[in-house]
Amino acid sequence: MGRVIDQGYIAEFSVLKTYDPPLTALHGAVVTGTSRRGKFLDIAARPAGGGEPLHLVTHLARAGWLRWRDSLPEQPPKAGKGPLAFRLRFADGAGFDLTEAGTRKRLAVYLVTDIETIPGVAALGPEPLDPAFTPDTLAGILAGRRTQIKGVLRDQKLIAGIGNAYSDEVLHAAKMSPYRLASSLSRDEVEALHAVIIGTLTEAIGRSDGLAASDLKKEKKAGLRVHGRVGETCSVCGDTIREVSFADSALQYCATCQTGGKPLADRRLSRLLK
Ligand SMILES: [Zn+2]
Repeated sequence: MGRVIDQGYIAEFSVLKTYDPPLTALHGAVVTGTSRRGKFLDIAARPAGGGEPLHLVTHLARAGWLRWRDSLPEQPPKAGKGPLAFRLRFADGAGFDLTEAGTRKRLAVYLVTDIETIPGVAALGPEPLDPAFTPDTLAGILAGRRTQIKGVLRDQKLIAGIGNAYSDEVLHAAKMSPYRLASSLSRDEVEALHAVIIGTLTEAIGRSDGLAASDLKKEKKAGLRVHGRVGETCSVCGDTIREVSFADSALQYCATCQTGGKPLADRRLSRLLK
Protein backbone atom coordinates (compact mmCIF):
# COMPACT_ATOMS: atom_id res chain seq x y z
CA MET A 1 0.00 0.00 0.00
CA GLY A 2 1.14 3.49 -0.77
CA ARG A 3 3.49 2.25 -3.47
CA VAL A 4 3.56 4.23 -6.68
CA ILE A 5 3.11 2.24 -9.89
CA ASP A 6 5.63 2.85 -12.63
CA GLN A 7 4.24 0.68 -15.40
CA GLY A 8 2.45 -2.50 -16.34
CA TYR A 9 4.03 -4.56 -19.11
CA ILE A 10 2.22 -7.07 -21.28
CA ALA A 11 4.54 -9.88 -22.32
CA GLU A 12 1.74 -11.96 -23.83
CA PHE A 13 -1.01 -9.95 -25.51
CA SER A 14 -3.85 -12.38 -24.97
CA VAL A 15 -3.72 -12.01 -21.17
CA LEU A 16 -5.01 -8.41 -21.11
CA LYS A 17 -8.78 -8.65 -21.40
CA THR A 18 -9.69 -4.94 -21.27
CA TYR A 19 -8.59 -1.83 -23.21
CA ASP A 20 -10.39 1.02 -21.44
CA PRO A 21 -8.83 2.52 -19.38
CA PRO A 22 -5.52 1.85 -21.12
CA LEU A 23 -2.63 0.28 -19.22
CA THR A 24 -0.78 3.60 -19.33
CA ALA A 25 -3.37 4.97 -16.85
CA LEU A 26 -1.44 3.03 -14.17
CA HIS A 27 1.61 5.27 -14.49
CA GLY A 28 2.02 7.24 -11.27
CA ALA A 29 -1.05 5.69 -9.63
CA VAL A 30 -0.80 5.04 -5.88
CA VAL A 31 -1.83 1.63 -4.54
CA THR A 32 -4.61 2.02 -1.98
CA GLY A 33 -5.29 -1.61 -1.17
CA THR A 34 -5.31 -5.22 -2.27
CA SER A 35 -8.07 -7.76 -1.85
CA ARG A 36 -9.25 -11.09 -3.14
CA ARG A 37 -12.60 -11.98 -4.69
CA GLY A 38 -12.75 -15.74 -5.18
CA LYS A 39 -9.78 -16.49 -7.38
CA PHE A 40 -9.45 -12.89 -8.55
CA LEU A 41 -6.76 -10.68 -7.01
CA ASP A 42 -7.64 -6.98 -6.97
CA ILE A 43 -5.09 -4.17 -6.65
CA ALA A 44 -6.83 -0.84 -6.16
CA ALA A 45 -4.97 2.33 -7.10
CA ARG A 46 -5.62 6.07 -7.17
CA PRO A 47 -4.67 7.46 -10.60
CA ALA A 48 -1.98 10.15 -10.72
CA GLY A 49 -4.31 12.73 -12.23
CA GLY A 50 -7.22 11.94 -9.91
CA GLY A 51 -10.52 10.55 -11.12
CA GLU A 52 -12.11 7.16 -10.63
CA PRO A 53 -10.03 4.56 -8.76
CA LEU A 54 -8.38 1.91 -10.92
CA HIS A 55 -8.55 -1.82 -10.29
CA LEU A 56 -5.84 -4.02 -11.69
CA VAL A 57 -7.39 -7.47 -11.41
CA THR A 58 -5.77 -10.81 -12.16
CA HIS A 59 -7.06 -14.34 -12.38
CA LEU A 60 -4.24 -16.86 -12.32
CA ALA A 61 -6.31 -19.73 -13.79
CA ARG A 62 -4.96 -23.19 -13.05
CA ALA A 63 -1.33 -22.85 -13.94
CA GLY A 64 -0.57 -19.18 -13.37
CA TRP A 65 1.76 -17.88 -10.68
CA LEU A 66 2.48 -14.52 -9.11
CA ARG A 67 6.07 -13.92 -8.10
CA TRP A 68 7.01 -10.87 -6.06
CA ARG A 69 10.42 -9.43 -6.87
CA ASP A 70 12.31 -6.86 -4.81
CA SER A 71 14.14 -5.58 -7.84
CA LEU A 72 13.00 -5.77 -11.45
CA PRO A 73 15.18 -5.01 -14.46
CA GLU A 74 14.87 -1.49 -15.88
CA GLN A 75 14.29 -2.59 -19.44
CA PRO A 76 10.83 -3.83 -20.49
CA PRO A 77 10.45 -7.61 -20.80
CA LYS A 78 10.53 -9.22 -24.24
CA ALA A 79 7.08 -10.09 -25.51
CA GLY A 80 5.99 -13.60 -26.40
CA LYS A 81 8.98 -15.41 -24.92
CA GLY A 82 8.88 -17.88 -22.05
CA PRO A 83 6.47 -18.12 -19.15
CA LEU A 84 6.19 -14.37 -18.41
CA ALA A 85 2.72 -13.00 -19.18
CA PHE A 86 2.53 -9.71 -17.29
CA ARG A 87 4.80 -7.55 -15.15
CA LEU A 88 3.91 -4.74 -12.80
CA ARG A 89 6.77 -2.49 -11.83
CA PHE A 90 6.65 0.04 -9.02
CA ALA A 91 8.54 3.34 -9.01
CA ASP A 92 10.94 1.96 -6.38
CA GLY A 93 12.00 -0.86 -8.75
CA ALA A 94 10.14 -3.67 -6.97
CA GLY A 95 7.13 -5.41 -8.49
CA PHE A 96 5.76 -8.74 -9.54
CA ASP A 97 5.64 -11.07 -12.51
CA LEU A 98 2.65 -13.14 -13.54
CA THR A 99 3.86 -16.31 -15.21
CA GLU A 100 2.32 -19.36 -16.78
CA ALA A 101 4.13 -22.23 -18.46
CA GLY A 102 3.19 -23.15 -22.01
CA THR A 103 2.50 -21.07 -25.08
CA ARG A 104 -1.24 -20.74 -24.52
CA LYS A 105 -1.74 -18.49 -21.48
CA ARG A 106 -4.98 -18.86 -19.59
CA LEU A 107 -4.31 -16.34 -16.86
CA ALA A 108 -6.12 -13.04 -17.26
CA VAL A 109 -5.43 -9.40 -16.43
CA TYR A 110 -8.09 -6.69 -16.35
CA LEU A 111 -7.78 -2.94 -15.79
CA VAL A 112 -11.17 -1.51 -14.85
CA THR A 113 -12.76 1.21 -12.76
CA ASP A 114 -15.54 -1.12 -11.55
CA ILE A 115 -14.54 -4.64 -10.61
CA GLU A 116 -18.12 -5.89 -10.93
CA THR A 117 -17.91 -5.37 -14.71
CA ILE A 118 -15.44 -8.28 -15.00
CA PRO A 119 -17.20 -11.44 -16.17
CA GLY A 120 -17.12 -14.00 -13.38
CA VAL A 121 -16.63 -11.50 -10.55
CA ALA A 122 -20.25 -10.36 -10.34
CA ALA A 123 -21.43 -13.97 -10.26
CA LEU A 124 -19.19 -14.95 -7.33
CA GLY A 125 -20.65 -16.02 -4.02
CA PRO A 126 -19.56 -14.50 -0.70
CA GLU A 127 -15.92 -14.66 0.36
CA PRO A 128 -15.59 -17.03 3.36
CA LEU A 129 -12.92 -14.97 5.14
CA ASP A 130 -15.00 -11.80 4.87
CA PRO A 131 -16.44 -10.94 8.33
CA ALA A 132 -19.84 -10.74 6.60
CA PHE A 133 -19.67 -14.53 6.02
CA THR A 134 -21.40 -15.71 9.21
CA PRO A 135 -23.00 -19.05 10.16
CA ASP A 136 -26.28 -17.45 9.05
CA THR A 137 -24.80 -16.74 5.60
CA LEU A 138 -23.78 -20.38 5.29
CA ALA A 139 -27.15 -21.56 6.57
CA GLY A 140 -28.83 -19.40 3.91
CA ILE A 141 -26.68 -20.93 1.17
CA LEU A 142 -27.42 -24.51 2.29
CA ALA A 143 -31.11 -24.08 3.04
CA GLY A 144 -33.36 -25.97 0.66
CA ARG A 145 -30.43 -27.04 -1.49
CA ARG A 146 -30.96 -30.69 -2.32
CA THR A 147 -27.48 -31.29 -3.66
CA GLN A 148 -24.37 -32.85 -2.18
CA ILE A 149 -22.39 -30.67 0.23
CA LYS A 150 -19.17 -31.28 -1.72
CA GLY A 151 -20.66 -29.67 -4.83
CA VAL A 152 -21.96 -26.69 -2.86
CA LEU A 153 -18.59 -25.98 -1.24
CA ARG A 154 -16.68 -25.97 -4.52
CA ASP A 155 -19.25 -23.94 -6.46
CA GLN A 156 -17.71 -20.45 -6.86
CA LYS A 157 -21.14 -18.93 -7.44
CA LEU A 158 -22.30 -20.07 -3.99
CA ILE A 159 -19.12 -19.57 -1.93
CA ALA A 160 -16.08 -17.98 -3.54
CA GLY A 161 -12.61 -19.40 -3.30
CA ILE A 162 -12.83 -22.82 -1.61
CA GLY A 163 -12.45 -24.99 -4.71
CA ASN A 164 -11.91 -28.71 -5.12
CA ALA A 165 -8.86 -29.30 -2.90
CA TYR A 166 -10.02 -27.30 0.10
CA SER A 167 -13.56 -28.65 -0.04
CA ASP A 168 -12.05 -32.13 0.49
CA GLU A 169 -10.04 -30.73 3.40
CA VAL A 170 -13.00 -28.91 4.95
CA LEU A 171 -15.22 -32.00 4.81
CA HIS A 172 -12.50 -34.22 6.29
CA ALA A 173 -11.90 -31.75 9.14
CA ALA A 174 -15.67 -31.49 9.69
CA LYS A 175 -15.97 -35.32 9.67
CA MET A 176 -18.74 -35.00 7.10
CA SER A 177 -19.54 -37.12 4.07
CA PRO A 178 -19.08 -35.33 0.73
CA TYR A 179 -22.42 -36.87 -0.26
CA ARG A 180 -24.39 -35.28 2.62
CA LEU A 181 -27.39 -33.41 1.32
CA ALA A 182 -26.72 -29.69 1.87
CA SER A 183 -30.24 -29.02 3.10
CA SER A 184 -30.05 -31.80 5.72
CA LEU A 185 -27.48 -30.14 8.00
CA SER A 186 -28.66 -29.23 11.49
CA ARG A 187 -27.97 -25.76 12.90
CA ASP A 188 -25.12 -27.20 15.02
CA GLU A 189 -23.61 -28.86 11.96
CA VAL A 190 -23.81 -25.62 9.97
CA GLU A 191 -22.02 -23.75 12.77
CA ALA A 192 -19.34 -26.45 13.03
CA LEU A 193 -18.86 -26.48 9.24
CA HIS A 194 -18.61 -22.68 9.21
CA ALA A 195 -15.87 -22.79 11.86
CA VAL A 196 -13.97 -25.48 9.93
CA ILE A 197 -14.15 -23.47 6.65
CA ILE A 198 -12.69 -20.38 8.36
CA GLY A 199 -10.06 -22.46 10.18
CA THR A 200 -8.95 -24.41 7.11
CA LEU A 201 -8.63 -21.36 4.87
CA THR A 202 -6.93 -19.25 7.54
CA GLU A 203 -4.42 -22.02 8.17
CA ALA A 204 -3.77 -22.36 4.42
CA ILE A 205 -3.09 -18.63 4.07
CA GLY A 206 -0.82 -18.67 7.13
CA ARG A 207 1.26 -21.45 5.61
CA SER A 208 1.67 -19.74 2.25
CA ASP A 209 2.52 -16.34 3.76
CA GLY A 210 5.99 -15.17 2.84
CA LEU A 211 6.80 -18.17 0.66
CA ALA A 212 8.30 -17.82 -2.78
CA ALA A 213 5.95 -18.87 -5.55
CA SER A 214 8.17 -21.84 -6.34
CA ASP A 215 7.57 -23.21 -2.84
CA LEU A 216 3.82 -22.59 -2.83
CA LYS A 217 2.81 -25.73 -4.72
CA LYS A 218 4.93 -27.92 -2.46
CA GLU A 219 3.60 -26.19 0.63
CA LYS A 220 -0.01 -26.52 -0.50
CA LYS A 221 0.41 -30.25 -1.06
CA ALA A 222 2.22 -30.70 2.27
CA GLY A 223 -0.62 -28.96 4.12
CA LEU A 224 -3.38 -31.12 2.67
CA ARG A 225 -4.61 -34.06 4.79
CA VAL A 226 -6.78 -35.94 2.29
CA HIS A 227 -6.83 -34.15 -1.04
CA GLY A 228 -4.48 -35.82 -3.55
CA ARG A 229 -3.55 -38.48 -0.97
CA VAL A 230 -5.51 -41.53 -2.14
CA GLY A 231 -3.94 -44.73 -0.81
CA GLU A 232 -2.08 -42.87 1.95
CA THR A 233 -2.90 -43.12 5.65
CA CYS A 234 -5.35 -40.73 7.30
CA SER A 235 -3.38 -38.66 9.81
CA VAL A 236 -6.38 -38.60 12.16
CA CYS A 237 -7.47 -42.25 12.35
CA GLY A 238 -5.00 -44.36 10.34
CA ASP A 239 -7.55 -45.60 7.77
CA THR A 240 -6.59 -45.57 4.08
CA ILE A 241 -7.69 -42.47 2.16
CA ARG A 242 -10.17 -43.32 -0.58
CA GLU A 243 -11.22 -41.66 -3.79
CA VAL A 244 -14.32 -41.26 -5.92
CA SER A 245 -13.62 -40.18 -9.48
CA PHE A 246 -15.87 -38.29 -11.84
CA ALA A 247 -15.54 -37.44 -15.51
CA ASP A 248 -13.37 -34.36 -14.93
CA SER A 249 -12.36 -34.47 -11.27
CA ALA A 250 -11.98 -36.67 -8.22
CA LEU A 251 -12.64 -36.31 -4.52
CA GLN A 252 -10.67 -37.89 -1.70
CA TYR A 253 -12.00 -38.72 1.75
CA CYS A 254 -11.51 -40.92 4.79
CA ALA A 255 -14.32 -43.43 5.32
CA THR A 256 -13.64 -43.86 9.06
CA CYS A 257 -13.62 -40.10 9.71
CA GLN A 258 -16.40 -39.10 7.36
CA THR A 259 -18.80 -41.85 6.37
CA GLY A 260 -19.03 -44.15 9.38
CA GLY A 261 -16.46 -46.49 7.84
CA LYS A 262 -18.59 -47.19 4.78
CA PRO A 263 -16.90 -46.50 1.42
CA LEU A 264 -18.85 -44.18 -0.86
CA ALA A 265 -20.40 -45.56 -4.02
CA ASP A 266 -18.28 -44.82 -7.06
CA ARG A 267 -20.72 -44.75 -9.95
CA ARG A 268 -18.07 -45.12 -12.59
CA LEU A 269 -16.58 -48.11 -10.81
CA SER A 270 -19.95 -49.80 -10.21
CA ARG A 271 -20.88 -49.31 -13.85
CA LEU A 272 -17.68 -51.10 -14.85
CA LEU A 273 -18.44 -53.99 -12.53
CA LYS A 274 -22.00 -54.54 -13.77
ZN1 LIG B 1 -9.58 -40.75 9.07
